[in-house]
Amino acid sequence: MGKENISYIALGSNKGDRFEYLTRAIQEIIQDKNNIIENVSSIYETLPYGYKDQGNFYNAVIKITTSYELLDLLDLLKSIEKKLGRENSTKWGPREIDLDILFYNDLIFSNNRITVPHKEAANRDFVLIPLSEIAPDLNHPALNQKICDICIVESEKTVIGKIQQKLTSWK
Ligand code: ATP
Ligand code: CA
Ligand code: CA
Repeated sequence: MGKENISYIALGSNKGDRFEYLTRAIQEIIQDKNNIIENVSSIYETLPYGYKDQGNFYNAVIKITTSYELLDLLDLLKSIEKKLGRENSTKWGPREIDLDILFYNDLIFSNNRITVPHKEAANRDFVLIPLSEIAPDLNHPALNQKICDICIVESEKTVIGKIQQKLTSWK
């Protein structure tokens, strides 16, 4: 493995077997020798974001070390979404799997393909709650605030609760 970078990735699914999609996405990430999984959060069931008329999501966050550059990591995640059969490309619409890069080291970067930190990371409880499980002291480089200190207003709360099933396939 080349240079090691630390990245946090948000996983979401609200179509088909949601647990299976999260599991398979992690397996695909592991199978790539450029990546090592360092930690995996619990899965949270959450109300749909954006279009309300769709099924609840399962959301989780993982920490990886990767030798991929940022845009190569994005390409990999998009190829995994495609391989797992993500059909709907509507932003915020129902999808089998959604893989978003939350952080890449402490990089602050934006172009026409990607913004890191993910522009909505700090506004979403379904990202902050699983993230604070595995990285409470992580500093959000754009806000210069720790994850556990970033508050969310009540109206934006979407997390229903933690589900019993654990993502253990990575161990
Ligand atoms: P949101 O980004 O608000 O969570 P979404 O995940 O539903 O919405 P998508 O349709 O999955 O949006 O992705 C739209 C585009 O967002 C992707 O093609 C990708 O190029 C871009 N993008 C920008 N920043 C990121 C990021 N940090 N991680 C993943 N994709 C990103
Ligand atoms: Ca997303
Ligand atoms: Ca996405």
